[in-house]
Amino acid sequence: MKKKYILGATALAASVMISGCKPIDEPTAAANADVPVPSLTTMEMLTESLTDADTEFAEYGEPVTTSETAAAETAEAVPAGGDTEPVQTAESTESAATETETASRTETEVRTVGVESISLTFYSVTLQTGQSKMPIVTMSPENASDKSEIWTSSDTSVATVDNMGKITAVSEGSCTVRVTSAQNPEVYADVEVTVTAGVQITYIDGILVVNKTYALPADYNPGVNSEAQAAFDRMQADAAAEGLNIYISSGFRSYDYQAGLYQRYVDKDGKAEADRYSARAGHSEHQTGLAFDLNSIEESFAKTKEGEWVNRNCHKYGFIIRYPSDKEDITGYKWEPWHIRYLGEDTAKAVYDSGLCLEEYLGITSEYAE
Ligand SMILES: [Zn+2]
Repeated sequence: MKKKYILGATALAASVMISGCKPIDEPTAAANADVPVPSLTTMEMLTESLTDADTEFAEYGEPVTTSETAAAETAEAVPAGGDTEPVQTAESTESAATETETASRTETEVRTVGVESISLTFYSVTLQTGQSKMPIVTMSPENASDKSEIWTSSDTSVATVDNMGKITAVSEGSCTVRVTSAQNPEVYADVEVTVTAGVQITYIDGILVVNKTYALPADYNPGVNSEAQAAFDRMQADAAAEGLNIYISSGFRSYDYQAGLYQRYVDKDGKAEADRYSARAGHSEHQTGLAFDLNSIEESFAKTKEGEWVNRNCHKYGFIIRYPSDKEDITGYKWEPWHIRYLGEDTAKAVYDSGLCLEEYLGITSEYAE
C-alpha cells in the first residue's frame, strides 16, 4: 500500500506547527519555530506508506527525534488535498502545548500563543423580552493556545447571557454583554443589547389573531392546544371510518423554530417569495398551537379524497381552511389547502358559512409593518 503524497501549503504549515511544538523532547532546538522544513522537492520524493508509528504520531503527537522526521512524517500523514489531518495536527499541537505548560517549571522555554483579538458576528442587537440570540465568536490568532470565553452582562435584569454566549432579553432597557478571553483578560468584545417590550397578544371577538399584521411574543410557547388536538382526533377518527387517512404533518412550532424555518426559505427562494408561503418568526399561526398542516403540504392535497373531505367537513370539528384559494391579497399567503386553524365549532361554522377568509370576517389586514 505505497502512496505518494504531494505536500500542499496546509501540510507545510502543519509541519511548521509540529516542529514548533516539539519541545517536549528537545527543549533547546524545540522551542523555536525555525526548525528547517524540507523543500517541496524532498516532500514529493516521499513514498513510504503509513506505519503504526506514524499513526500514533498523528493521533497523539508523540515526540520525535529530529525535525526532518517530524516534517516528513506529517507530510506522509496528510494525503494530497486532505482537509482532515491538519485539524488533528492542530489538536496535537494544542495538547502538546498544554503538556509543555505543565512541565514549564523545569523546561527552559514555554511557547504560548496568546489571544490578540475577538470578533463577533454582531455587536448590537435588539430583542423582545423573552427572545434569545447568540453571536458567533472568532478569537485570533487562529492558533491561540486557549480560546476559552468568559461571558458577562452589565445588567442581568435587562439581559442575561449563558456561558456559550446565548443572550436572552429579560426586560425593557439596554445593557452590554461582554465576551472576554479567559487567557488574556485585556482582550474582549462587546454586544450592545436593547430590549424592547414584548409584542402584545391580540384577540378579536375572542379569537386569537396571528397574521402578518398581528404577531405573537417570542416567548409565547404554549405547545399544541389540547382542545384543538381533541377536535382533530375526532375528525381523524370519523375520516378513518370512511377509509380516509388524515394525519398532522406539522403542528405547534415555536418562535425559534419558525425563525430557522423562515430563514431557510429566504435562503432558498428570496424574501419576497418566502413571504408568500412562510411566516416570519412571531407571525406564524403554528405558534398558537391552534393550527395544523395535514398530510402533504402540496396544492395537490386539495384534489385527494382526504383533501376534499377536509375542505367539506373540517368546520364541523371547529376548523377552517385558513388560507383559501384566491385570497392571497387578503390573507397574505398563497392557497394552503392543508393548513387548518381551530376556532371552535360555532365560529368555524360561521366563518365557513360566510364564505369569507378570517381577515375579511374580522375586518382586519394582514401586512408586515415594513
Ligand atoms: Zn401551516
